[in-house]
Amino acid sequence: MNKKIYDVIIVGGGVIGCSIARYLSRYKVNGLLIEKHSDVGEETSCANSAIVHSGYDPLPNTRKAYFNVKGNKMMEEVCKELHVPFIRNGSLTIGFNEEDRKTIENLFSRAKSNGVDARIVEKEELHEMEPSLNDECLCALYCKNSGIVSPFELTIGFMENAMDNGFELNLNEKVEKIIKNNELFEVITNKGEYLSKTLVNAAGLYSDEILSNLEKPSFKINARKGEYILLDHFNNDWCKHTLFMCPTKVGKGVLISPTTSFNYIIGPSNDSSSKEDTSTDTSTMSILKETAAKLIKNIPYSEVIRTFAGVRANPDNDDFIIEESKTNPGLFNVAGIMSPGLASSPAIGEYVSDLIKEKLKLEKNNNYKSKRKEVLSLNSLGIDKYNELVKKCPAYGHMICRCEKVSEGQIIDAIHRNCGAKTVKGVKKRLRAGFGKCQGSFCEEEVCKILARELNVPLSSILYKDEGSEVFKYKSKGNNYDE
Ligand SMILES: Cc1cc2nc3c(=O)[nH]c(=O)nc-3n(C[C@H](O)[C@H](O)[C@H](O)COP(=O)(O)OP(=O)(O)OC[C@H]3O[C@@H](n4cnc5c(N)ncnc54)[C@H](O)[C@@H]3O)c2cc1C
Repeated sequence: MNKKIYDVIIVGGGVIGCSIARYLSRYKVNGLLIEKHSDVGEETSCANSAIVHSGYDPLPNTRKAYFNVKGNKMMEEVCKELHVPFIRNGSLTIGFNEEDRKTIENLFSRAKSNGVDARIVEKEELHEMEPSLNDECLCALYCKNSGIVSPFELTIGFMENAMDNGFELNLNEKVEKIIKNNELFEVITNKGEYLSKTLVNAAGLYSDEILSNLEKPSFKINARKGEYILLDHFNNDWCKHTLFMCPTKVGKGVLISPTTSFNYIIGPSNDSSSKEDTSTDTSTMSILKETAAKLIKNIPYSEVIRTFAGVRANPDNDDFIIEESKTNPGLFNVAGIMSPGLASSPAIGEYVSDLIKEKLKLEKNNNYKSKRKEVLSLNSLGIDKYNELVKKCPAYGHMICRCEKVSEGQIIDAIHRNCGAKTVKGVKKRLRAGFGKCQGSFCEEEVCKILARELNVPLSSILYKDEGSEVFKYKSKGNNYDE
């Protein structure tokens, strides 16, 4: 049987693979993205600081500096088109002594070289800008264009938009082998075999392993874990800016920042780890607390709702790898996308899609729609509009997650969109159901029932996340969930 030949196959559905798919869908392209998990954005792209860095930190003339500054500029428009939460809250990189002041002055010149709008603020102004700061905070580099974004919704938004424009997505499918067969790439997964004229390696932590199918990798990915503490939303004014410490050789250090849903994050740590290790431990939490205490006094740890960790994919050359392979033309490595990869994602997606457009001489897709269907947020509707909506469709009045105010109607919508939710975590990432104070203790069962009904599958098959994570695995006294 003749196999379909794709123009492009993307390996990896993190924010980078999904962004490339979105920008490629501006052209007439037969495209397929293959992701091993049950959803896009399940690895590094779902556990990070969520900062749209301004671009003062990367060394000038690096790919990190170029794509960060460009991505930051693009982010506002992209988030409007995709209905993704984004706030330009500004960042303050804080100095505590004269040595830090020197670092801040260096960062200021670096910001200027990178084309970033920045200025140094002194103690009085700094404490007016951020009243919760510790008295020892002496001066800061202020970058007003720094922002915060929802990394979950950005990744999903890119992929949904790509699918709305005809791109295909295969989930739960792991790429196991790749062979170059004449001019074509043969991609062999645990579920099938595909042929493609070009291949994008956007496999994050595993991009060196993916490349080794075709050639000896010229880079190695080193995993470094970052652990976080997450506070509930208790006061929208407690900390308005993203607060960084001065960077050191190993990274940007511990930060405190609001999120787009007005939670607060404290972290990350920076330790060598395995690629799979997303555990957290009490000794790292103590170090985070000790370091964060230098920035803000009396952090309300009674508001902690969870801890989590993400794993950085750090390449050994310390810069993004974004290039076509010389040994295997048509293979595009988009690897080692460490921080500021999230901030850079729209710029990387646009750039890589244009390389492929040139290679394959793709034509413009005249039916391309850059806008994604709106995602309803009850919090921003206002009471009159909400009442009208509930009259028309009572499911929007049936509250499932009370902590984050998410209704049955919204969950049904999230399931039936392109790149829709198929798991409990999928609903959580799209709507925040289960993200609140009770961490899903009250709503998880209801979410499972809605998923089972809408996907027309038995309740016992509903997963929290990937295969093997069935929520209702065992029957217990008195429950009769599987009819
Ligand atoms: C602690 C931490 C803090 C960070 N903070 C920030 C920040 O504030 N701002 C910022 O800009 N950046 C930040 N980053 C960096 C940012 O998160 C990454 O740059 C970005 O998420 C990388 O996306 P990606 O698509 O390359 O990788 P990933 O999100 O890891 O995606 C790769 C995908 O490939 C899939 N895959 C791998 N192998 C296979 C296979 N064989 N078959 C099928 N699929 C496969 C994986 O399942 C995964 O979904 C941070 C990162 C960490 C860890």
